[in-house]
Amino acid sequence: MSHPTRHDVVIAGAGMVGASLAYALARSGLEVAQIEPTASAARQHVGFDERSITLSFGSARIYETLGLWSRIAAHATPIRTIQITEARRFGSARLDASELDVDALGYVVNARAFNTILNDAVSSEPKVRVYCPAKVTALQSPSDGEIGLAVSITQGDAIRTLQSPLVVGADGADSTVRKLLGIAATVHDYDQIALVANVDVENVQDGAAYERFTPHGPIAVLPNGGKRYGIVWMLDRAVGESIMALSDDAFALRLHDEFAGRLGMFSNVGQRFRYPLKLTRSAQLARTRAVLVGNAANALHPIGAQGFNLGLRDVALLAQLIVDAHRAGADIGADALLQRYSRERMADQRRTVLFTDVLARVFDAEWFAPLRPLGLLATQLFPPLRRQITRGAMGLGGRLTRLSRGLPL
Ligand SMILES: Cc1cc2nc3c(=O)[nH]c(=O)nc-3n(C[C@H](O)[C@H](O)[C@H](O)COP(=O)(O)OP(=O)(O)OC[C@H]3O[C@@H](n4cnc5c(N)ncnc54)[C@H](O)[C@@H]3O)c2cc1C
Repeated sequence: MSHPTRHDVVIAGAGMVGASLAYALARSGLEVAQIEPTASAARQHVGFDERSITLSFGSARIYETLGLWSRIAAHATPIRTIQITEARRFGSARLDASELDVDALGYVVNARAFNTILNDAVSSEPKVRVYCPAKVTALQSPSDGEIGLAVSITQGDAIRTLQSPLVVGADGADSTVRKLLGIAATVHDYDQIALVANVDVENVQDGAAYERFTPHGPIAVLPNGGKRYGIVWMLDRAVGESIMALSDDAFALRLHDEFAGRLGMFSNVGQRFRYPLKLTRSAQLARTRAVLVGNAANALHPIGAQGFNLGLRDVALLAQLIVDAHRAGADIGADALLQRYSRERMADQRRTVLFTDVLARVFDAEWFAPLRPLGLLATQLFPPLRRQITRGAMGLGGRLTRLSRGLPL
Protein backbone atom coordinates (compact mmCIF):
# COMPACT_ATOMS: atom_id res chain seq x y z
CA MET A 1 0.00 0.00 0.00
CA SER A 2 1.34 3.48 -0.84
CA HIS A 3 2.26 5.88 1.97
CA PRO A 4 -0.13 8.69 2.77
CA THR A 5 0.81 12.11 1.40
CA ARG A 6 1.34 14.64 4.19
CA HIS A 7 0.10 18.21 4.17
CA ASP A 8 0.02 20.88 6.88
CA VAL A 9 -3.72 21.42 6.29
CA VAL A 10 -6.29 19.49 4.25
CA ILE A 11 -9.25 21.59 3.08
CA ALA A 12 -12.40 19.86 1.80
CA GLY A 13 -14.13 22.13 -0.72
CA ALA A 14 -12.96 24.80 -3.18
CA GLY A 15 -16.00 27.06 -2.99
CA MET A 16 -15.44 30.72 -2.20
CA VAL A 17 -14.68 29.98 1.45
CA GLY A 18 -12.35 26.99 0.97
CA ALA A 19 -10.43 28.69 -1.86
CA SER A 20 -9.95 31.86 0.22
CA LEU A 21 -8.57 29.84 3.12
CA ALA A 22 -6.23 27.80 0.90
CA TYR A 23 -4.82 30.99 -0.60
CA ALA A 24 -4.36 32.74 2.76
CA LEU A 25 -2.53 29.75 4.27
CA ALA A 26 -0.32 29.03 1.25
CA ARG A 27 0.79 32.68 1.08
CA SER A 28 1.96 32.28 4.67
CA GLY A 29 4.09 29.24 3.84
CA LEU A 30 1.83 26.30 4.76
CA GLU A 31 1.58 23.19 2.58
CA VAL A 32 -2.11 22.86 1.75
CA ALA A 33 -4.20 20.16 0.07
CA GLN A 34 -7.51 21.26 -1.42
CA ILE A 35 -10.10 18.65 -2.42
CA GLU A 36 -12.96 19.54 -4.79
CA PRO A 37 -15.37 17.09 -6.46
CA THR A 38 -16.55 19.30 -9.32
CA ALA A 39 -14.14 19.98 -12.19
CA SER A 40 -14.01 23.74 -12.73
CA ALA A 41 -15.41 23.60 -16.28
CA ALA A 42 -18.52 21.78 -15.01
CA ARG A 43 -19.17 23.94 -11.96
CA GLN A 44 -22.72 25.17 -11.95
CA HIS A 45 -23.45 25.06 -8.25
CA VAL A 46 -24.04 27.89 -5.86
CA GLY A 47 -20.48 29.22 -5.90
CA PHE A 48 -20.06 29.13 -9.68
CA ASP A 49 -23.22 30.53 -11.19
CA GLU A 50 -24.41 33.87 -12.52
CA ARG A 51 -25.53 35.12 -9.12
CA SER A 52 -24.57 38.56 -7.89
CA ILE A 53 -22.77 38.28 -4.58
CA THR A 54 -22.44 41.33 -2.38
CA LEU A 55 -19.08 41.52 -0.68
CA SER A 56 -19.15 43.67 2.42
CA PHE A 57 -16.67 46.49 2.93
CA GLY A 58 -15.06 44.23 5.59
CA SER A 59 -14.62 41.37 3.09
CA ALA A 60 -13.05 43.72 0.54
CA ARG A 61 -10.55 44.77 3.19
CA ILE A 62 -9.65 41.12 3.90
CA TYR A 63 -8.92 40.53 0.18
CA GLU A 64 -6.95 43.76 0.02
CA THR A 65 -4.75 42.56 2.86
CA LEU A 66 -4.33 39.20 1.11
CA GLY A 67 -3.24 41.03 -2.07
CA LEU A 68 -6.21 39.82 -4.16
CA TRP A 69 -8.43 42.89 -4.16
CA SER A 70 -7.10 44.53 -7.34
CA ARG A 71 -8.01 41.37 -9.31
CA ILE A 72 -11.47 41.19 -7.73
CA ALA A 73 -12.10 44.95 -8.00
CA ALA A 74 -11.67 44.73 -11.78
CA HIS A 75 -14.93 42.70 -11.80
CA ALA A 76 -16.71 44.42 -8.89
CA THR A 77 -19.24 47.26 -8.84
CA PRO A 78 -19.23 49.50 -5.77
CA ILE A 79 -22.53 50.12 -3.95
CA ARG A 80 -22.57 53.76 -2.82
CA THR A 81 -26.23 53.97 -1.77
CA ILE A 82 -28.96 51.49 -0.89
CA GLN A 83 -32.48 52.74 -1.47
CA ILE A 84 -35.09 50.80 0.46
CA THR A 85 -38.76 51.17 -0.41
CA GLU A 86 -42.02 49.44 0.31
CA ALA A 87 -44.48 48.46 -2.44
CA ARG A 88 -47.98 49.88 -2.07
CA ARG A 89 -47.15 51.62 1.21
CA PHE A 90 -45.55 54.86 2.30
CA GLY A 91 -42.00 54.66 3.71
CA SER A 92 -38.44 54.62 2.46
CA ALA A 93 -34.88 54.72 3.76
CA ARG A 94 -31.56 55.48 2.18
CA LEU A 95 -28.18 54.19 3.36
CA ASP A 96 -25.25 56.21 2.05
CA ALA A 97 -21.52 55.46 1.99
CA SER A 98 -20.68 59.15 2.40
CA GLU A 99 -22.39 59.15 5.79
CA LEU A 100 -19.68 56.78 7.00
CA ASP A 101 -16.85 58.43 5.10
CA VAL A 102 -16.16 55.36 2.95
CA ASP A 103 -16.10 54.90 -0.82
CA ALA A 104 -18.59 52.05 -0.88
CA LEU A 105 -20.97 50.20 1.41
CA GLY A 106 -20.05 46.97 -0.35
CA TYR A 107 -19.23 45.55 -3.79
CA VAL A 108 -21.22 43.38 -6.17
CA VAL A 109 -19.37 40.59 -7.97
CA ASN A 110 -20.56 37.87 -10.28
CA ALA A 111 -20.18 34.58 -8.39
CA ARG A 112 -18.59 32.76 -11.32
CA ALA A 113 -16.03 35.50 -12.05
CA PHE A 114 -15.21 35.82 -8.36
CA ASN A 115 -14.74 32.10 -7.74
CA THR A 116 -12.65 31.80 -10.90
CA ILE A 117 -10.30 34.53 -9.62
CA LEU A 118 -10.00 32.74 -6.27
CA ASN A 119 -9.40 29.31 -7.83
CA ASP A 120 -6.87 30.68 -10.33
CA ALA A 121 -5.04 32.38 -7.47
CA VAL A 122 -4.97 29.08 -5.55
CA SER A 123 -3.77 27.11 -8.60
CA SER A 124 -0.81 29.44 -9.07
CA GLU A 125 0.36 28.93 -5.48
CA PRO A 126 3.13 26.30 -5.44
CA LYS A 127 2.32 25.43 -1.81
CA VAL A 128 -1.20 24.19 -2.69
CA ARG A 129 -1.90 20.77 -4.15
CA VAL A 130 -5.39 20.70 -5.67
CA TYR A 131 -7.06 17.28 -5.93
CA CYS A 132 -9.91 17.76 -8.41
CA PRO A 133 -12.22 16.11 -9.24
CA ALA A 134 -11.96 14.28 -5.93
CA LYS A 135 -13.96 14.11 -2.73
CA VAL A 136 -13.37 13.43 0.93
CA THR A 137 -14.99 10.11 1.84
CA ALA A 138 -13.54 9.07 5.21
CA LEU A 139 -11.61 10.39 8.21
CA GLN A 140 -9.61 8.13 10.53
CA SER A 141 -6.81 8.15 13.06
CA PRO A 142 -3.56 7.44 11.19
CA SER A 143 -2.54 3.78 11.24
CA ASP A 144 1.14 4.59 11.85
CA GLY A 145 0.40 6.27 15.20
CA GLU A 146 1.30 9.71 13.77
CA ILE A 147 -0.46 12.79 15.14
CA GLY A 148 -3.33 13.98 12.96
CA LEU A 149 -6.07 12.56 10.78
CA ALA A 150 -5.92 10.23 7.80
CA VAL A 151 -8.20 11.60 5.09
CA SER A 152 -9.47 9.19 2.41
CA ILE A 153 -10.23 10.87 -0.88
CA THR A 154 -11.86 9.24 -3.88
CA GLN A 155 -10.61 10.26 -7.32
CA GLY A 156 -12.49 8.32 -9.99
CA ASP A 157 -11.96 4.65 -9.06
CA ALA A 158 -8.85 5.39 -7.01
CA ILE A 159 -8.76 5.94 -3.27
CA ARG A 160 -5.86 7.91 -1.83
CA THR A 161 -4.95 8.74 1.72
CA LEU A 162 -3.71 12.13 2.85
CA GLN A 163 -2.44 12.83 6.32
CA SER A 164 -2.61 16.10 8.19
CA PRO A 165 -2.64 17.57 11.69
CA LEU A 166 -5.73 19.61 10.70
CA VAL A 167 -8.69 18.98 8.38
CA VAL A 168 -10.99 21.86 7.46
CA GLY A 169 -14.55 21.22 6.28
CA ALA A 170 -15.34 23.98 3.76
CA ASP A 171 -17.61 21.60 1.90
CA GLY A 172 -20.89 23.50 2.04
CA ALA A 173 -24.28 23.21 3.73
CA ASP A 174 -24.48 19.43 3.24
CA SER A 175 -20.93 18.98 4.57
CA THR A 176 -19.52 15.45 4.35
CA VAL A 177 -16.77 16.39 6.82
CA ARG A 178 -19.41 17.44 9.35
CA LYS A 179 -21.19 14.09 8.94
CA LEU A 180 -17.95 12.11 9.15
CA LEU A 181 -17.14 13.92 12.40
CA GLY A 182 -20.56 13.02 13.80
CA ILE A 183 -21.51 16.68 14.33
CA ALA A 184 -25.27 17.23 14.26
CA ALA A 185 -26.89 20.02 12.24
CA THR A 186 -30.24 21.71 12.65
CA VAL A 187 -32.11 22.57 9.46
CA HIS A 188 -35.02 24.99 9.09
CA ASP A 189 -36.80 25.05 5.71
CA TYR A 190 -38.25 28.53 5.03
CA ASP A 191 -40.50 27.15 2.29
CA GLN A 192 -39.19 29.97 0.12
CA ILE A 193 -36.99 30.22 -2.94
CA ALA A 194 -34.56 32.88 -4.07
CA LEU A 195 -35.19 33.70 -7.72
CA VAL A 196 -32.04 35.04 -9.35
CA ALA A 197 -31.56 36.67 -12.76
CA ASN A 198 -29.55 39.38 -14.49
CA VAL A 199 -31.46 42.16 -16.27
CA ASP A 200 -31.02 45.63 -17.79
CA VAL A 201 -32.75 48.42 -15.81
CA GLU A 202 -33.69 51.73 -17.39
CA ASN A 203 -33.77 54.40 -14.64
CA VAL A 204 -30.93 53.76 -12.24
CA GLN A 205 -28.51 55.99 -10.42
CA ASP A 206 -24.83 55.25 -10.62
CA GLY A 207 -23.70 53.00 -7.74
CA ALA A 208 -27.22 52.56 -6.33
CA ALA A 209 -28.63 49.26 -5.08
CA TYR A 210 -32.36 48.93 -4.47
CA GLU A 211 -34.28 46.87 -1.97
CA ARG A 212 -38.04 46.68 -2.42
CA PHE A 213 -40.43 44.99 -0.01
CA THR A 214 -43.27 43.47 -1.98
CA PRO A 215 -46.25 41.49 -0.62
CA HIS A 216 -44.55 38.30 -1.94
CA GLY A 217 -41.09 38.97 -0.50
CA PRO A 218 -38.15 41.38 -0.77
CA ILE A 219 -36.39 42.07 -4.11
CA ALA A 220 -32.74 43.16 -4.16
CA VAL A 221 -31.56 44.92 -7.34
CA LEU A 222 -27.78 44.96 -7.34
CA PRO A 223 -25.54 46.98 -9.70
CA ASN A 224 -23.40 44.89 -12.04
CA GLY A 225 -21.92 47.69 -14.14
CA GLY A 226 -23.80 50.15 -16.35
CA LYS A 227 -27.46 49.21 -16.78
CA ARG A 228 -26.88 45.55 -15.95
CA TYR A 229 -28.34 44.58 -12.60
CA GLY A 230 -28.58 41.36 -10.61
CA ILE A 231 -32.03 40.52 -9.22
CA VAL A 232 -32.39 38.41 -6.08
CA TRP A 233 -36.07 38.00 -5.24
CA MET A 234 -36.99 35.96 -2.18
CA LEU A 235 -40.44 34.44 -2.56
CA ASP A 236 -42.79 31.94 -0.96
CA ARG A 237 -42.23 28.70 -2.82
CA ALA A 238 -45.57 28.51 -4.66
CA VAL A 239 -45.56 32.16 -5.79
CA GLY A 240 -41.88 31.80 -6.71
CA GLU A 241 -42.59 28.83 -8.97
CA SER A 242 -45.35 30.77 -10.76
CA ILE A 243 -42.98 33.71 -11.33
CA MET A 244 -40.27 31.30 -12.55
CA ALA A 245 -42.79 30.07 -15.14
CA LEU A 246 -43.43 33.55 -16.64
CA SER A 247 -42.01 34.39 -20.05
CA ASP A 248 -39.01 36.79 -20.05
CA ASP A 249 -41.21 39.68 -21.17
CA ALA A 250 -43.86 38.97 -18.54
CA PHE A 251 -41.15 38.69 -15.88
CA ALA A 252 -39.66 42.05 -16.93
CA LEU A 253 -43.09 43.66 -16.79
CA ARG A 254 -43.73 42.12 -13.37
CA LEU A 255 -40.52 43.72 -12.04
CA HIS A 256 -41.52 47.06 -13.55
CA ASP A 257 -44.89 46.82 -11.78
CA GLU A 258 -43.43 45.70 -8.44
CA PHE A 259 -41.33 48.91 -8.46
CA ALA A 260 -44.39 50.90 -9.58
CA GLY A 261 -42.39 52.10 -12.57
CA ARG A 262 -39.79 53.92 -10.37
CA LEU A 263 -36.88 52.10 -12.07
CA GLY A 264 -38.37 52.30 -15.56
CA MET A 265 -38.43 49.29 -17.86
CA PHE A 266 -36.59 46.03 -17.21
CA SER A 267 -35.28 44.19 -20.29
CA ASN A 268 -32.75 41.70 -21.64
CA VAL A 269 -33.64 39.10 -18.98
CA GLY A 270 -30.89 36.49 -18.48
CA GLN A 271 -31.45 32.89 -17.40
CA ARG A 272 -33.48 32.59 -14.20
CA PHE A 273 -32.28 30.31 -11.37
CA ARG A 274 -34.04 29.24 -8.19
CA TYR A 275 -32.51 28.32 -4.84
CA PRO A 276 -34.59 26.62 -2.11
CA LEU A 277 -33.93 28.54 1.12
CA LYS A 278 -32.92 26.84 4.35
CA LEU A 279 -31.01 27.68 7.49
CA THR A 280 -28.51 24.96 8.38
CA ARG A 281 -26.50 25.31 11.59
CA SER A 282 -23.82 22.97 12.92
CA ALA A 283 -24.13 22.08 16.58
CA GLN A 284 -20.34 22.41 16.94
CA LEU A 285 -17.54 24.00 14.96
CA ALA A 286 -14.72 21.62 15.85
CA ARG A 287 -13.81 18.09 16.87
CA THR A 288 -10.38 16.58 17.41
CA ARG A 289 -8.14 17.85 14.57
CA ALA A 290 -11.01 19.04 12.43
CA VAL A 291 -12.92 22.29 12.06
CA LEU A 292 -15.82 23.71 10.01
CA VAL A 293 -15.97 27.03 8.13
CA GLY A 294 -18.43 28.86 5.86
CA ASN A 295 -21.65 27.13 4.84
CA ALA A 296 -20.47 23.88 6.46
CA ALA A 297 -20.76 25.75 9.78
CA ASN A 298 -23.74 28.05 9.02
CA ALA A 299 -25.71 28.25 5.77
CA LEU A 300 -28.07 31.24 5.88
CA HIS A 301 -31.06 32.74 4.12
CA PRO A 302 -29.67 35.24 1.58
CA ILE A 303 -31.66 38.20 2.87
CA GLY A 304 -29.15 40.80 4.02
CA ALA A 305 -26.34 39.26 1.90
CA GLN A 306 -24.49 37.94 4.94
CA GLY A 307 -23.64 34.26 4.28
CA PHE A 308 -20.36 34.39 2.43
CA ASN A 309 -19.19 37.47 4.32
CA LEU A 310 -19.71 35.54 7.57
CA GLY A 311 -17.77 32.58 6.16
CA LEU A 312 -14.89 34.84 5.16
CA ARG A 313 -14.69 36.09 8.74
CA ASP A 314 -14.36 32.40 9.81
CA VAL A 315 -11.47 32.16 7.35
CA ALA A 316 -9.81 35.36 8.64
CA LEU A 317 -9.70 34.10 12.24
CA LEU A 318 -8.82 30.48 11.45
CA ALA A 319 -5.98 31.54 9.13
CA GLN A 320 -4.61 33.89 11.80
CA LEU A 321 -4.61 31.19 14.51
CA ILE A 322 -3.06 28.56 12.20
CA VAL A 323 -0.34 30.90 10.87
CA ASP A 324 0.58 32.08 14.39
CA ALA A 325 0.87 28.47 15.61
CA HIS A 326 2.87 27.44 12.53
CA ARG A 327 5.34 30.31 13.01
CA ALA A 328 5.73 29.45 16.68
CA GLY A 329 6.47 25.83 15.73
CA ALA A 330 3.33 24.77 17.67
CA ASP A 331 0.72 22.14 16.74
CA ILE A 332 -1.72 23.77 14.28
CA GLY A 333 -4.44 21.20 15.00
CA ALA A 334 -4.22 21.39 18.81
CA ASP A 335 -7.48 21.27 20.79
CA ALA A 336 -6.73 24.62 22.42
CA LEU A 337 -6.46 26.33 19.02
CA LEU A 338 -9.70 24.80 17.76
CA GLN A 339 -11.52 25.65 20.98
CA ARG A 340 -10.32 29.23 20.69
CA TYR A 341 -11.60 29.39 17.10
CA SER A 342 -14.99 28.02 18.22
CA ARG A 343 -15.18 30.43 21.17
CA GLU A 344 -14.17 33.53 19.24
CA ARG A 345 -16.46 32.87 16.26
CA MET A 346 -19.50 32.12 18.38
CA ALA A 347 -20.79 35.67 19.01
CA ASP A 348 -20.48 36.87 15.39
CA GLN A 349 -22.08 33.68 14.04
CA ARG A 350 -24.99 33.79 16.53
CA ARG A 351 -25.62 37.47 15.85
CA THR A 352 -25.51 37.10 12.08
CA VAL A 353 -27.68 33.96 12.04
CA LEU A 354 -30.22 35.61 14.34
CA PHE A 355 -30.28 38.85 12.35
CA THR A 356 -30.80 36.99 9.06
CA ASP A 357 -33.32 34.52 10.45
CA VAL A 358 -35.41 37.26 12.07
CA LEU A 359 -35.40 39.29 8.84
CA ALA A 360 -36.38 36.22 6.79
CA ARG A 361 -39.29 35.29 9.08
CA VAL A 362 -40.50 38.80 9.82
CA PHE A 363 -40.55 39.95 6.21
CA ASP A 364 -42.52 36.85 5.36
CA ALA A 365 -45.11 37.44 8.09
CA GLU A 366 -48.31 39.22 7.14
CA TRP A 367 -48.70 40.84 10.57
CA PHE A 368 -45.42 42.68 10.07
CA ALA A 369 -46.33 44.29 6.74
CA PRO A 370 -48.12 47.34 8.25
CA LEU A 371 -45.14 47.95 10.58
CA ARG A 372 -42.46 47.96 7.89
CA PRO A 373 -42.98 51.61 6.86
CA LEU A 374 -42.45 52.61 10.51
CA GLY A 375 -39.16 50.72 10.56
CA LEU A 376 -38.06 52.46 7.38
CA LEU A 377 -39.13 55.84 8.74
CA ALA A 378 -37.26 55.28 12.02
CA THR A 379 -34.15 54.31 10.05
CA GLN A 380 -34.43 57.45 7.97
CA LEU A 381 -35.10 59.81 10.88
CA PHE A 382 -32.46 58.54 13.34
CA PRO A 383 -28.96 58.75 11.88
CA PRO A 384 -27.35 56.76 14.75
CA LEU A 385 -29.72 53.83 14.05
CA ARG A 386 -28.98 54.14 10.35
CA ARG A 387 -25.23 54.19 10.95
CA GLN A 388 -25.49 51.13 13.21
CA ILE A 389 -27.41 49.18 10.54
CA THR A 390 -24.99 50.32 7.86
CA ARG A 391 -21.90 49.26 9.86
CA GLY A 392 -23.46 45.82 10.45
CA ALA A 393 -24.22 45.43 6.73
CA MET A 394 -20.64 46.48 5.96
CA GLY A 395 -19.24 43.59 8.02
CA LEU A 396 -17.58 45.90 10.51
CA GLY A 397 -19.43 44.74 13.62
CA GLY A 398 -17.79 42.71 16.39
CA ARG A 399 -14.18 41.88 17.09
CA LEU A 400 -11.91 42.33 14.08
CA THR A 401 -9.15 39.96 12.99
CA ARG A 402 -5.74 41.11 11.71
CA LEU A 403 -6.82 40.60 8.09
CA SER A 404 -9.97 42.68 8.53
CA ARG A 405 -7.96 45.47 10.17
CA GLY A 406 -5.66 45.58 7.14
CA LEU A 407 -2.71 43.86 8.91
CA PRO A 408 -0.99 40.96 7.15
CA LEU A 409 -1.19 37.46 8.66
C1 LIG B 1 -29.49 33.27 -3.91
C2 LIG B 1 -28.31 33.47 -3.00
C3 LIG B 1 -27.70 34.71 -2.91
C4 LIG B 1 -26.62 34.92 -2.05
N1 LIG B 1 -26.07 36.16 -1.97
C5 LIG B 1 -25.06 36.37 -1.09
C6 LIG B 1 -24.47 37.67 -0.97
O1 LIG B 1 -24.85 38.61 -1.68
N2 LIG B 1 -23.48 37.84 -0.06
C7 LIG B 1 -23.04 36.83 0.73
O2 LIG B 1 -22.17 37.06 1.58
N3 LIG B 1 -23.55 35.57 0.63
C8 LIG B 1 -24.54 35.33 -0.26
N4 LIG B 1 -25.06 34.06 -0.38
C9 LIG B 1 -24.46 32.96 0.40
C10 LIG B 1 -23.21 32.38 -0.30
O3 LIG B 1 -23.54 31.92 -1.58
C11 LIG B 1 -22.65 31.23 0.52
O4 LIG B 1 -22.47 31.66 1.84
C12 LIG B 1 -21.32 30.74 -0.05
O5 LIG B 1 -21.50 30.23 -1.34
C13 LIG B 1 -20.75 29.65 0.86
O6 LIG B 1 -19.51 29.25 0.34
P1 LIG B 1 -18.81 27.91 0.84
O7 LIG B 1 -17.50 27.88 0.13
O8 LIG B 1 -18.84 27.82 2.33
O9 LIG B 1 -19.78 26.75 0.35
P2 LIG B 1 -20.11 26.24 -1.14
O10 LIG B 1 -20.13 27.37 -2.10
O11 LIG B 1 -21.32 25.38 -1.02
O12 LIG B 1 -18.85 25.33 -1.53
C14 LIG B 1 -18.66 24.05 -0.96
C15 LIG B 1 -17.71 23.27 -1.88
O13 LIG B 1 -17.43 21.99 -1.27
C16 LIG B 1 -17.45 21.01 -2.29
N5 LIG B 1 -17.72 19.69 -1.68
C17 LIG B 1 -18.93 19.11 -1.43
N6 LIG B 1 -18.75 17.88 -0.91
C18 LIG B 1 -17.42 17.66 -0.81
C19 LIG B 1 -16.60 16.58 -0.36
N7 LIG B 1 -17.13 15.43 0.11
N8 LIG B 1 -15.25 16.71 -0.40
C20 LIG B 1 -14.68 17.86 -0.86
N9 LIG B 1 -15.41 18.91 -1.32
C21 LIG B 1 -16.75 18.82 -1.28
C22 LIG B 1 -18.55 21.48 -3.26
O14 LIG B 1 -18.39 20.92 -4.54
C23 LIG B 1 -18.32 22.99 -3.25
O15 LIG B 1 -17.42 23.42 -4.24
C24 LIG B 1 -26.13 33.83 -1.25
C25 LIG B 1 -26.73 32.56 -1.34
C26 LIG B 1 -27.81 32.38 -2.21
C27 LIG B 1 -28.44 31.01 -2.29
